[in-house]
Amino acid sequence: MQYRSYGSLGYEVSLFGMGCMRLPRIVRGDHAEVDREKAYEMIRYAADHGVNYFDTAYGYHNLTSEEVLGEALEGGRREKVKIATKQPFGTMADLKTGGGKNILDNARRNLEATLKKLRTSYIDVYLIHNIGAYCWEDVKKNKIIEEYEKFRSEGLIRAIAFSYHGGYDCFKEVLDFYDWGMCQIQQNFVDVEREATEEGIRHAGRKGCALVIMEPIRGGNLAFPPPQVKAIYDGYRVKRSAVEWAFRHLANYGEVSTILSGVSTMEQLKEDIEIFSKPDMAAGCLSEEEKAILAKVRTQYESLRSIPCTGCEYCLPCPQGVNIPQVFGKYNDGVMFGTFEPARRSYMFQTRGRQDASRCVECKACEKKCPQHIGIVKELKVAHEKLQGWIE
Ligand code: SF4
Ligand code: SF4
Repeated sequence: MQYRSYGSLGYEVSLFGMGCMRLPRIVRGDHAEVDREKAYEMIRYAADHGVNYFDTAYGYHNLTSEEVLGEALEGGRREKVKIATKQPFGTMADLKTGGGKNILDNARRNLEATLKKLRTSYIDVYLIHNIGAYCWEDVKKNKIIEEYEKFRSEGLIRAIAFSYHGGYDCFKEVLDFYDWGMCQIQQNFVDVEREATEEGIRHAGRKGCALVIMEPIRGGNLAFPPPQVKAIYDGYRVKRSAVEWAFRHLANYGEVSTILSGVSTMEQLKEDIEIFSKPDMAAGCLSEEEKAILAKVRTQYESLRSIPCTGCEYCLPCPQGVNIPQVFGKYNDGVMFGTFEPARRSYMFQTRGRQDASRCVECKACEKKCPQHIGIVKELKVAHEKLQGWIE
């Protein structure tokens, strides 16, 4: 396994981090739950084969992902690994389900529940989950970072971090606002000009902030290339899986500490560990010729996109909380990759966070601000129709 340093925190982490949001599941009718025995086996296998970084969140798998991870690591493995988990602002702010007197009280209750589920007395890295332009002002106004500082001074968490979805401008603003222990962004070779962008990676590196990458294979979509893309890969003299190409694109950046991958089967896990154990999975591992191949593949994927949203976020914030670029991004993924399954699962989280398209009241305030002149209201309806209905 390849290892890298983690910003200024002094951690030495595996370049492959196991994401615990796509653990194996058992689906019965309209109910799904984690297949615990399989999940325990995978988590323990990872921890015993060099993976020392695990990522989960308060809400994953209907609030059970943290519990499954905690149970799997009990008995000696927890002390050998770093655990990163997260709490979204929306969960803190939900006074109906949070049970607390106010947002900060909720935040503390949720952290206490997380520690209990993880069977640990401390979290190595605690993130404000899914910051974006839609909630950044609320995060600041409600002094969430200050509350996290209290958690740290009490020894409940060891580092303060954030995960982010959205464009570069807001990412830079969030990153520059505070001395974060880590930032976590969506990047892959298809998104180099979207989300936090490649410039976001460079900026985190300049600041010396640990950088963790999520969605390196776009929810699994880049693992199954259409024939046009497969032909490009097959034409290269070195034969690699599509998954390895996607991981190599990110390993190439020296700024990256860990690349998360949410694995659902033991087979995927073993394949990922094998790829990340190759001696040349290092910064600068891509030649110019290989970069050109990935650029060609990206162009091929781009030609399949349906809504011309660039993810610039100029349409935000929506007064109803709809995260417009995220809705369009998920819809485009479904069209581009020929399957809506991963996009629908991801949309479920957006719905829980009250940022989905069903909240749109058709005020059209966003349409006036969109430089691409997208008929946002109409497209949101189309997207919602295709994305709703995932059973977790
Ligand atoms: S039209 Fe819908 S998505 Fe756009 S700002 Fe109004 S409520 Fe939000
Ligand atoms: S809908 Fe328009 S304004 Fe909103 S993120 Fe997409 S391109 Fe930018």
